[in-house]
Amino acid sequence: MKRLKTLLLLGCCLLLFSGCAGKTAETGRLKAVASAFPEYDLLRAVGGDRVEAAMLLKPGMEAHSFEPSPQDILAIRTSKLFVYGGGESDVWADRLLESGDLGDTKVLALMDHALLRREETLEYMTVEEAEAEGDEYDEHVWTSPKNMLILTKAMQDALTELDPAGAEEYRANAESYAAKLKDLDTQLRELAQNSKRTLLVFGDRFPFLYLTREYGFDYAAAFPGCSGETDANPATVARLIDIVQEESIPVVFKCDLSEGKLADTIAEAAGAKVLTLYSAHTLSKDDFEAGETYLSLMAKNTEALREALN
Ligand SMILES: [Zn+2]
Repeated sequence: MKRLKTLLLLGCCLLLFSGCAGKTAETGRLKAVASAFPEYDLLRAVGGDRVEAAMLLKPGMEAHSFEPSPQDILAIRTSKLFVYGGGESDVWADRLLESGDLGDTKVLALMDHALLRREETLEYMTVEEAEAEGDEYDEHVWTSPKNMLILTKAMQDALTELDPAGAEEYRANAESYAAKLKDLDTQLRELAQNSKRTLLVFGDRFPFLYLTREYGFDYAAAFPGCSGETDANPATVARLIDIVQEESIPVVFKCDLSEGKLADTIAEAAGAKVLTLYSAHTLSKDDFEAGETYLSLMAKNTEALREALN
């Protein structure tokens, strides 16, 4: 705790002495920090060379239980822009914002701009249980390219406001990124129209609500959302095996960064194969170092979906 205070104090002093100048990197680029990979990837796509982008959640880290270190808080305070998701995984950021401790850092929350969908539950529940759960919106908004198009514009606007001299560059970057997102959207729409089936089976968590609903895919999953549960209900597992067998479904999906044990069990019992679908909430160290992006992972997703749907 003492260390935290010292660091926060240090942060204040830095700001006092350097004012806004501290928020421009030595390279003259605009300093921006993203909470997780989807925000970071969008930041570098639209910001290009004018932005020095940092990411708080390091590759391989679990996205749903993140707590910032004092250094992370300092990084946010000394940046001009902080981009985060705004959902369940980001309550730490909401707390930080409420504390009013971020000074003049501009904040962009994806969920303030994206089109939202309510989380869907897989189990029946009583009214009391439903009320206790409340109306939560699923936070994985980026899994729909249509949302990414909206977020690209929001990112362009935020960067232009902070750095008007870069307006033309941000516009050009956003335009070329939007063209790639539209291509991806067209491919997924065509895939949905031309495939043999619509049902996808997930022997894992399910962070793909926006992706599946956008293109009209049906789904059956072992866990709702990015649930922290790890023990699947045996009845659910048995039902998933039945579905895969009865519908001759060729692929059972596992999520990125998952060991995929449950998907393996279901696939083995039903005679299907396991493929990975990337939510890209966080990347593995290998994928990050290999330079994977939202678009490269979504291209892999499109091919995996093609195999699963035909
Ligand atoms: Zn997630």
